[in-house]
Amino acid sequence: MSSLQPVRGTHDLIGETQRRFAHVIETARRITGLYGFDEWATPIFEDTRVFKRTLGDTSDVVSKEMYTFEDRGGESLTLRPEGTASVCRALVTNGLTQSLPQKVFYAGPMFRYERPQKGRYRQFHQIGAELLGAAEPLADAEVIAMGRDILQALGIARDTVLELNTLGDLESRTAWRAALVTYFSERRDELSSESQNRLERNPLRILDSKSPQDRAVVEDAPLISGFLTPLAQTFWDDLRKTLDILGVGFRENPRIVRGLDYYSHTAFEFVTERLGTQGTVLAGGRYDGLVSEMGGPQTPAIGWAGGIERLSMLLEEAPAAPRPVMVVPMGEGAAATGLTVLQALRGAHIRAETSYRGNLKRRMERANRLNATHAIVIGEDEVARGVVQVRDLDRGEQTEVAMDQVTSFLHGLSQDA
Ligand code: ATP
Ligand code: MG
Repeated sequence: MSSLQPVRGTHDLIGETQRRFAHVIETARRITGLYGFDEWATPIFEDTRVFKRTLGDTSDVVSKEMYTFEDRGGESLTLRPEGTASVCRALVTNGLTQSLPQKVFYAGPMFRYERPQKGRYRQFHQIGAELLGAAEPLADAEVIAMGRDILQALGIARDTVLELNTLGDLESRTAWRAALVTYFSERRDELSSESQNRLERNPLRILDSKSPQDRAVVEDAPLISGFLTPLAQTFWDDLRKTLDILGVGFRENPRIVRGLDYYSHTAFEFVTERLGTQGTVLAGGRYDGLVSEMGGPQTPAIGWAGGIERLSMLLEEAPAAPRPVMVVPMGEGAAATGLTVLQALRGAHIRAETSYRGNLKRRMERANRLNATHAIVIGEDEVARGVVQVRDLDRGEQTEVAMDQVTSFLHGLSQDA
């Protein structure tokens, strides 16, 4: 039998990879906390309608990327392809639509049946934030600034550019959509067959097409800016003004429409040139219609999601592996004392390890492999005298320390450092 492999497009997170992931999530959790966001966790799978209803039948995600299956009870379930729809569903089903605003942070795996390549996987991971119940452009600006702060805290803000667009309100979009249909219909033959399809069902999506053939036609397509209602124009002006006040730099990009159907007004992407074509690391927008699609009251909302894989790849260096203290009991007579010291260290919040077998040499080799800071060597003589030998493995110095002073001795060292 050939050996089992991970499913195509999935990967194990181990060692340095996992430390990079954890660092991205912890940083995002900390920064969103500063903005008053609370963490939510929703199920990994949902009733298929949660996504079908909201993402739009013509979106790439719903039309070809969802992992949908029937369970043994005959219900259609879908592994979540993104977090926003689930958060809106949770807002409604937990009766929170009357306690607004809600500020939500989440992190976790998402699933899309895509062609795997660097920066694009079938199980991937996102951090995300949703601010539900605020209609003001100030909310959009704050949520975008929070994304920028996370990139800054990760040390990668300089590698990214914020691209910003408005999709206007429904009235603006309806007029723009009509102009797009007219324009694309005239050049129908130049479009990819996929975009010819989109022309009937969702012409905005053509602007988002990655096919080079479509890109050429998209070049000259009418822009939303010519169709903004006075209200939508004011919103757009206020957003840019507020971003200026917050010191968030951006580049206007009229081509940004985002991959999902539910956006209005603000759409934005933080992009980098360091990851080839998978250059969008954190993206989002305003989705005022989504909560009502989910059966709740009309609720304005704005949010974003960031790809943890892509953010991790941009990190300059992986967070260092934590260094333990190694307890090395020598001989039967030191075993019990070794265990006591080990637990005392852990009780004092010091990462401590021991090896389960082997002579002094083998045990010291393991200490080196784990990059231990210290070895605490305990022989029968030490047990009799109530002391231990603390060996500093970086400097090669050894100090005799009273057994009940070990943790304070090590704490003292880490304070000196
Ligand atoms: P793309 O245009 O790259 O397909 P998208 O518009 O489908 O992105 P969103 O649904 O907005 O992406 O997801 C937000 C972020 O999640 C993306 O900017 C990206 O960083 C990440 N992401 C999306 N799909 C994947 C994937 N298959 N593998 C890894 N990361 C992903
Ligand atoms: Mg996509």
